[in-house]
Amino acid sequence: DELISQIAAGEVVERPASVVRELVDNALDAGATQITVRLLAGGVRLISVEDDGGGIPQAELPVALRRHATSKITNLHDLETVATMGFRGEALAAISSVSETALLSRPAGQDSAFLLDARSGELRPAARSQGTTVEVKELFFSTPARRKFLKSDATELAHCVEAVRRHALARPDVGFAVWHEGKLVEQWRATFTPGESNPQDALARRLADVLGEDFVEQSVPVQHRVGPVIVTGRAGVPDAARSRADHQYCYVNGRFVRDKVLTHAARSAYEDVLHGQKQPVYALYIEIDPARVDVNVHPTKIEVRFRDSREVHQAVRHAIENALAAPRA
Ligand code: ADP
Ligand code: MG
Repeated sequence: DELISQIAAGEVVERPASVVRELVDNALDAGATQITVRLLAGGVRLISVEDDGGGIPQAELPVALRRHATSKITNLHDLETVATMGFRGEALAAISSVSETALLSRPAGQDSAFLLDARSGELRPAARSQGTTVEVKELFFSTPARRKFLKSDATELAHCVEAVRRHALARPDVGFAVWHEGKLVEQWRATFTPGESNPQDALARRLADVLGEDFVEQSVPVQHRVGPVIVTGRAGVPDAARSRADHQYCYVNGRFVRDKVLTHAARSAYEDVLHGQKQPVYALYIEIDPARVDVNVHPTKIEVRFRDSREVHQAVRHAIENALAAPRA
């Protein structure tokens, strides 16, 4: 049983950044407006993710750690239309099987917070304002072979920051902070102003904060709809001075994905104007009827399958072509 859960954990938890991604997913699903990530030794010694979301009631804390326990979907139809980041109920179970995990949470209306030590099962009252903190210590402590595959602290930290960055680019309405060894490494404040008419403005500010002012200055807004597919975001202009291969972000219904259909479509749109010199840079947000995309094809949900990939390919390609062709302000 312990063995089976550790094997399953291998699919979800590859390195500290995988833990960070899953915990931030959970915080967002809980409706957090501020998420703070604290790391020690690149996350290997400690990953703590603190949120101000809905919290977990005392009685639910042990359930949250159980395998296939999710509060987010209840039937197969929900799986077709899932709107939350999580739905598999695997992450906390997997993470706690390969680390020393503790959950500290206080939902609204509960007199105090409760702390659950996953290893001992001990549950006791603790102090905390509304929200949840998940603490993950000594990742892979019981599987030294896996631990040996981890890179230097600096490299693992970079992957952890990238995991938060991917979330930050999708949620300008949420504040994010990353601390390492007690020092603030990154901080992205919520850029959404209530009542603001153009959500593109909030996104542009977040993109500037996360990817740099020059990314925004040297890119054009993308806004396009083809049938059921909506594509928004920003596409770097071909002569962008700082073209970075790693500045290619694609989201499907708010979820960061790596997808060949999308990257190919983007490449095709740039092909004529780039003359093969540089990697295009872009942040693209694809909104599509959830029934037209399967997000349950990969344990970490980083890959998706479109029901009609041609439809998505065309939408993305045209969206970028139109954006690049429009006269620049
Ligand atoms: P999933 O996200 O797929 O439901 P997880 O293993 O990631 O599965 O989490 C299990 C459950 O624990 C969630 O369904 C949710 O009910 C609860 N949970 C986890 N993290 C948080 C959090 N930060 N705030 C509130 N509830 C949480
Ligand atoms: Mg989850």
